[in-house]
Amino acid sequence: MSRPLDGISHARTIRAEVAAEIADMVSAGLRPPCLAAVLVGDDPASAIYVRSKVSACREAGLQTREERRPATIAQEDVLALVRALARDDGVDGILVQMPLPEGLDRRRVIEAIDPAKDVDGFHPQNVGRLWIGESGFVPCTPLGVMELLSREGIAVEGKEAVVIGRSEIVGKPMAALLLQRHATVTVCHSRTRDLPTVAARADVLVAAIGRPAFVTREFIKPGAVVIDVGINQVRDAARARELFGDDPSRQDAIKRKGYTLVGDAHPLHVAERASAFTPVPGGVGPLTVALLLRNTLRAAQARAAGRSRS
Ligand code: NDP
Repeated sequence: MSRPLDGISHARTIRAEVAAEIADMVSAGLRPPCLAAVLVGDDPASAIYVRSKVSACREAGLQTREERRPATIAQEDVLALVRALARDDGVDGILVQMPLPEGLDRRRVIEAIDPAKDVDGFHPQNVGRLWIGESGFVPCTPLGVMELLSREGIAVEGKEAVVIGRSEIVGKPMAALLLQRHATVTVCHSRTRDLPTVAARADVLVAAIGRPAFVTREFIKPGAVVIDVGINQVRDAARARELFGDDPSRQDAIKRKGYTLVGDAHPLHVAERASAFTPVPGGVGPLTVALLLRNTLRAAQARAAGRSRS
């Protein structure tokens, strides 16, 4: 029997833990942590992501500051904004929603973030810390995956882990974290030869590709744990039937919203082969937001401890 791993309930628990720690901070006379979210341009998906992060922050008792700028903003002005947030003592975490509009240099913007406020873990200093095993901020999605595995009692030590995808946001930090927990890690990408055979070695298979239902049964060793990071839209009713069988909620979603979500793994094939898997939606996605809150809390705690030492 294949077991779905309930990201929603773990995310709820983590958010409650964060809220409790914030309540303790406030009763000790400290101000609540503050996350500044920078949104440049008018990409509707980015606006939705920022709105959901901000509302999750508020629910857990964090303060938020939204900095919206038009897509026409000059590179130097974005850098000036991020540097001002870095200097601002009232801000603990800085999130720059990606992707940035064309013409803005993502790398330079990330490097302008104070590494101590880099709650997304994208600054090169935090990337380096992760790979050498020092404490620092780790990107929220792979951190959420590790949290899920650990809360589910799924040990990775000594196991074969295969990560499909090598992005800075998911694939690479995922590989670093699995390696830190002593898995034997293989990272695959678009040039990997005979991907299904490599993937089928995995006891823990992580799919972070961005292609709907790409991972089919021949990629999955029977009994593997499949972590599906992908979020893709399916708009075609016949394709949805092929992916989800007769699940009426999927056909309803297409009628209501025009689409239903599918991950990077084929849901029916995963259910047939895996011992446990993350569903889409309701798997990795909710954990990403929960870990952003926790990273911001940790940033605030570290800064408060630094202030009390100096
Ligand atoms: P990127 O597009 O940055 O990276 C995709 C990776 O997949 C690349 O390394 C690419 O290889 C690899 N890839 C693409 N096509 C193939 C192929 N045919 N065979 C093998 N490898 C391939 O995506 P992200 O890492 O940002 O995101 C991946 C997915 O995860 C997306 O669906 C995204 O929406 C989702 N996501 C979900 C989050 C969540 O909270 N649940 C958070 C972040 C992302 P190469 O490097 O060679 O091009």
